[in-house]
Amino acid sequence: MPESRDIDVLVSEVGPRDGLQSIKSIMPTAAKKAWIAAEAAAGVREIEVGSFVPATLLPQMADAAEVVSYARTLPGLTVLALVPNFRGAETAIRAGAHKIALPLSASETHSKANLRKTHDEVLAEVRRIAAHIRELPEAERPGFEGNVSTAFGCTLEGPVPEGKVVELARRLVEAGVDEVGLSDTTGYANPAQLRRLIRLVRAEIGHDRLSGIHLHNTRGLGLANALAALDEGITTLDSSLGGLGGCPYAPGASGNIVTEDLVFMLDSMGLRTGIDLAKLLAVRRILIEALPGEEMYGFTPDAGLPKGYAAGGWGVPAGT
Ligand code: ZN
Repeated sequence: MPESRDIDVLVSEVGPRDGLQSIKSIMPTAAKKAWIAAEAAAGVREIEVGSFVPATLLPQMADAAEVVSYARTLPGLTVLALVPNFRGAETAIRAGAHKIALPLSASETHSKANLRKTHDEVLAEVRRIAAHIRELPEAERPGFEGNVSTAFGCTLEGPVPEGKVVELARRLVEAGVDEVGLSDTTGYANPAQLRRLIRLVRAEIGHDRLSGIHLHNTRGLGLANALAALDEGITTLDSSLGGLGGCPYAPGASGNIVTEDLVFMLDSMGLRTGIDLAKLLAVRRILIEALPGEEMYGFTPDAGLPKGYAAGGWGVPAGT
C-alpha cells in the first residue's frame, strides 16, 4: 500500500538501480544525488537508489552506501535498496535503507547467472536476513520485500510455469519477507497473463502481501500491463526515468516502463501520484548531461504536455 493516503498509486523510481546497472557508463555520485534529489522534489515518494552487490561485479553501484545515506536526508522519501544476499542486506541496513528488496528468479538458470545461487540457497539467505531484521530495535527495522523476478518468462529458459511463481511467492513469505513483488525482468508479460498471475499469487499468499509490480517495456506492452495491474488493485508500480534499464544477465531485456509516460497516464486519468509532472520532465536534463550517448526513451518528454493540460486529469478544468 502507498505510504500515505493522499496518493492513489505509488510510483517507485528504479532508474538509479535498474537503469544504471545495465548501461556501460558509470554515473558520477554527484549526478546520482542530484537526480534523486530532483525526483524527490518533484514529488516521487520512493526511489530504489542502488544495489548492494560487490563493486567488482557492478562498478556502477560501488557508491551505493553513500547514495543511500544521502537519500536518507531527503524529506518524505522512502529509500529502497536491492540486496542480493545477507551480506548486501547487512550493508544496506547499516547505510540506512528504509526498505530492502531481494530478487528471487523464478527461472533457476537466471538465478544462477544473476545471483550465482539456486532457489534453496536464495531462500536460505532470505531466512538469515529476516532473522537479522528481527534482532534489530523496532525503529531500525527496514521493510523487507521479496521479488519474484523473471516471473513472466525468461530469456534463458523461455516460459516460466505459473505454479512455480506461486510456489516461490509462498516460500518467500514463509522465509520471512513482509511483501512480495512480481517482476517482468525480461519484458515478456502481457495483460491477460499479468491479471491471471496476480490473482493466483494473491490467492496463495493473501491480497495485501502482493502490492507491487515491476515492468519492462521491451515489447511495448509496459503501460498496457501497468493498467492491467492497476485494475487488479495493484498500488505500487516501478518505472525508470527515461526508461533506462534492463538486466546485464538477461540478454535482450531492455528498459523499464518510462516514469514520465507512466505519470502522464496516471495523472491524466485523475489518479493521484503526488508527482508534479512538469517538474518530473525537467529532471531528465540531469540524465542527459550525466550520461552522454546513452539512449533515453519516452513519448511524453518528446511530445510535451497537451495544450491546456491540467494536472490531475482532464476532468479538472484548467485554472481551477
Ligand atoms: Zn528490472
